[in-house]
Amino acid sequence: MTDRKDELAANLAKVEERIAAACAAAGRSREEVTLIVVTKTHPADDVRMLSELGVRHVAENRDQDAAPKAAECADLPLVWHFVGQLQTNKVRSVVGYADFVQSVDRSKLVTTLSREAERTGREVGCLIQVALDAGASGRGERGGVGPDGVAELAGLVADAPGLRLDGLMTVAPLTGEYAGREQAAFGRLMDLSTDLRRAHPAANMVSAGMSADLEQAVAAGATHVRVGTAVLGVRPRLR
Ligand SMILES: *Cc1c(COP(=O)(O)O)cnc(C)c1O
Repeated sequence: MTDRKDELAANLAKVEERIAAACAAAGRSREEVTLIVVTKTHPADDVRMLSELGVRHVAENRDQDAAPKAAECADLPLVWHFVGQLQTNKVRSVVGYADFVQSVDRSKLVTTLSREAERTGREVGCLIQVALDAGASGRGERGGVGPDGVAELAGLVADAPGLRLDGLMTVAPLTGEYAGREQAAFGRLMDLSTDLRRAHPAANMVSAGMSADLEQAVAAGATHVRVGTAVLGVRPRLR
């Protein structure tokens, strides 16, 4: 085993312990929470080692990095999540490898994703990214649609050929009323998920929590946590 693989195994074990403890504290079963390892900026070799260590879900946020990495790892039994702001001119590439797009935040993106999914004969799982700090524009600075826009966008995804409406995603806001209040932010996301499931019962994924706040997300009821730094270490600088 290489040193790097030992390091990843040790980090994974620590994260697994944190998730298990958070589930126990919340009276939830460990099976209710899926770990997604965010491999952005880290090399394909790391992804391969993670796969060998039993990781099944990985996430990326930039198509330029993700596309070649996914191609290099095409032989691995991995589920790929796209979690970054997505420009429509990158959709064709992303649909080539992403099983889930967690950052659906505007109607133009729904139209483009649907067209590409249909063209390639793939079904893409979609999560609506919610910006809990959306201002008057109804949009978040780092992507996402404000809470008031979720129902309409969800309806568009549900009706779009090639797309499957799977749930909601958020990143804890750094500004606004939820700044520093991760638990409250994730609680709000859960309320929005409850509303969403009235109209779309199968859309039950709730993706929330990262390295710093996965406990709060699990306590709130998240079904998926997205963990980068705590597994892979500090990210190499962006090229
Ligand atoms: C980078 C990233 C993560 C992981 O963040 P860490 O703090 O490194 O765990 C989760 N979600 C999204 C959308 C990200 O861009």
